[in-house]
Amino acid sequence: MARLGSWIESHPEGIYVRPADAWIDPSQPKARAWVTHGHADHARGGHGAVLATAETLAIMEARYGPQHGQAIAYDEGIHVGEVDVRFLPAGHVLGSAQIVLDHKGERVVVSGDYKRRPDPTCACFVPVPCDIFITEATFGLPVFRHPETGSEIDRLLHRLHADPARCVLVGAYALGKAQRIICELRARGHHDPIYVHGAIERLNQLYESFGVELGELRPATGATKAEMAGHIVIAPPGALNDRWSRRLPDPVTAMASGWMRIRQRARQRNVELPLIISDHADWDELTMTIRELEPTEVWITHGREEALKHWCTTHQIKARELNLVGYEDEDD
Ligand SMILES: [Zn+2]
Ligand SMILES: [Zn+2]
Repeated sequence: MARLGSWIESHPEGIYVRPADAWIDPSQPKARAWVTHGHADHARGGHGAVLATAETLAIMEARYGPQHGQAIAYDEGIHVGEVDVRFLPAGHVLGSAQIVLDHKGERVVVSGDYKRRPDPTCACFVPVPCDIFITEATFGLPVFRHPETGSEIDRLLHRLHADPARCVLVGAYALGKAQRIICELRARGHHDPIYVHGAIERLNQLYESFGVELGELRPATGATKAEMAGHIVIAPPGALNDRWSRRLPDPVTAMASGWMRIRQRARQRNVELPLIISDHADWDELTMTIRELEPTEVWITHGREEALKHWCTTHQIKARELNLVGYEDEDD
């Protein structure tokens, strides 16, 4: 009998689904690409045909221009080659999907990036029992345990209200994190205008066009220091320490990232208010998901593969590391 999942090949540039002649999240241009979500390390330009959710295709078009894209809705099944393909919510960012592949009685789930806790900007992760679960492991160490999102948002609001002469500048990844922070603030009753860096505006509009309501947003560019005092300003992490932030009224520098668990990372970026908010599963979410899906094998991608592999082995689950290159979630 053939090895389990022998029809799925792992290459440095992505996962190749042989019977469908398709690549998942390839880092090089391919004739047929299936894309889990819009982050640049998963969705690249230059492919022949792209299969993705409508949201992911819209994000790719905003970044790379027109795509030869085919939109697939969550849970819509299609047949390619000898493979049944479905996209199901991954709970990571707007439009993010796990790709469920069925071929000759074997089921493989490619998670892409995922998380398990609720996110007001995207559909919740749907667990699908499978033979092989291909999981990310960005935060695949027991030290990574993300606190409740609500308590982190409360810390942010508390800091804001403590000093109305200052603003709080929050560094947040432009695709997903920024919009999630805004929605979480609204859910906590914060309805003041929020100022945003120009690099986030286009994605904010894209989210709103898909029905994610962000409330009143104002461009930070052109606003005076007096106008921004006592307000929250959201910018990509790269803008935290650059010239751009000098226009702000004595900002308290915050950053929303799972990496903020590591003090040294916060110090490197001169972050005064680290907020541990991530769009990736933490250690408990990773292990809970594997327990729930009960796969025969777990294949592990980008991150700290070793610890999760060891955890699987001690739980009698066969595990292997996939050496895919180019996946980076430095700021997430
Ligand atoms: Zn991602
Ligand atoms: Zn990723």
